[in-house]
Amino acid sequence: MAEIQEYRGVSGTNFFLSDQPLLSWLKNRKTSKDAIERLTAFGELCGGTLNGLIETAQRDDKLPTLQSYDRWGKRIDLIRYCPEQLEARRLVLESGVLPPTPLWERLIKAYLVNQNGEGGVTCPLAMTDGLAQLLEAHGTPEQKRRWLPLVRDPKTPTPLTGGQFVTERQGGSVVSENETTAVQAKDGTWRLTGLKWFCSNPGELWVTTAKPQGANTVGLFLVPRRLPDGTLNDCHILRLKDLCGTRGKATAEVEYKGAYAELIGRPSHGLAILMNVVIKTSRVHVVAGSLGMMRRAHVEAGLYARSRKIMGRPAGELPEVKVSLARIESLWRGSQFAFFEMIRSLEEEDPVSEVLVPLLKIGVSKAASEAVREAQMVFAGNGILRDFSILPRLSQDALIQEIWEGTHAVLASHVEKALRRQDSRKAFEALLGSERSRLDGLEGLALCQAAFEGLTRALAAAGGRQAQMI
Ligand SMILES: Cc1cc2nc3c(=O)[nH]c(=O)nc-3n(C[C@H](O)[C@H](O)[C@H](O)COP(=O)(O)OP(=O)(O)OC[C@H]3O[C@@H](n4cnc5c(N)ncnc54)[C@H](O)[C@@H]3O)c2cc1C
Repeated sequence: MAEIQEYRGVSGTNFFLSDQPLLSWLKNRKTSKDAIERLTAFGELCGGTLNGLIETAQRDDKLPTLQSYDRWGKRIDLIRYCPEQLEARRLVLESGVLPPTPLWERLIKAYLVNQNGEGGVTCPLAMTDGLAQLLEAHGTPEQKRRWLPLVRDPKTPTPLTGGQFVTERQGGSVVSENETTAVQAKDGTWRLTGLKWFCSNPGELWVTTAKPQGANTVGLFLVPRRLPDGTLNDCHILRLKDLCGTRGKATAEVEYKGAYAELIGRPSHGLAILMNVVIKTSRVHVVAGSLGMMRRAHVEAGLYARSRKIMGRPAGELPEVKVSLARIESLWRGSQFAFFEMIRSLEEEDPVSEVLVPLLKIGVSKAASEAVREAQMVFAGNGILRDFSILPRLSQDALIQEIWEGTHAVLASHVEKALRRQDSRKAFEALLGSERSRLDGLEGLALCQAAFEGLTRALAAAGGRQAQMI
């Protein structure tokens, strides 16, 4: 029987090979041997080297710092990351996490790596994925030639270098209220003026929103940190935010002071492209990430309950602890079925994805916070100690996942909008099966809560049957 002194959590294990439902799902999809080998290697990396690098990089004395000026008083706006942070990002970037790696594989990798928490890696990963897709889908041939190699380059000063700066001081939920302005220069490029309030991962290239002068619509722009001659662009990092979670990646306030920018897509299409490519990608990464955090909480709580003795018996044998463990497992399992369904719907361009992406952004991120909290209750006092387990860090990261890329209220309005479209509603009701009557008469967050619970129950029942056939 394991002893509490021996508890080390899942460090050093393969996060992929130990995930039975994931293995079954991949088997059902007839996943190629090559892909399974890639995921096996990635699972090994996540549970081993990355686990260690990320843990070290999150220590208080290792967090990113900002140096605004050099010794001659010249503005340099340099963010310094510790070597472990940069190495973790490089290893992830070199593991095939950006397109053309297919979406399903990118999301499974995001799920696996998030089992180490956000770790200063997975927010940059989501944003760089969105940026690569944006360039592929809407960049000019010249923009693709110039920027895609930079986005994919593991040797840039900050690997996974993409940023997405939309939120302003006056609010993040309503993008059309952005006050940053864009003025077109004679050569066709643009100059931006304004302040962005939450700028995570200010790397080498970011996508941002601004209103072209005289217009009331929001355009989408690329802003490189450096101009072609190597000098700094006119966008200054004012300060780094003092965050309670996701602390390994820097989040800054950035001021554009006539910053060089390139338009991406048509000015009047900015908001639509932002939502359909950039924000949508980030939201699916939030689903994958929250699920990963939930799984880590589940596995850690199970291991701890086996080694902690209460009155001479493993804590996991106490009925109350059993209930906690079962609750965490059911949150994780249900969310995982829903995650797999979301991937399928995106791959097949099934209209149900319009409901599933915002619904799961709400449901899975909330479930992650609940699962991590429940796991902390299993650990009790030790669940609060930052040097005992990953749980305190996960609890902060899980909370942030609920907020960024849209709060629950904002996402609920997207779910409602999607359900007003007949094709999406019909497809969603088919997934819910007999649960659908529970949705009648509900609105907003109540509707989303009921829909998420019904969905995970219906999918778990179907998935359970499927699993027996394997
Ligand atoms: C750690 C961290 C990193 C971040 N990084 C980035 C980044 O890199 N780039 C970026 O652009 N942003 C970033 N954000 C900002 C994030 O996306 C916003 O916080 C989020 O979109 C919500 O905006 P807000 O905080 O301004 O809330 P507000 O918009 O001020 O919302 C306040 C309240 O009003 C509610 N509300 C708002 N609108 C509606 C509505 N229409 N219906 C009902 N209720 C509503 C909200 O739910 C919330 O409860 C980051 C945030 C965090 C915490």
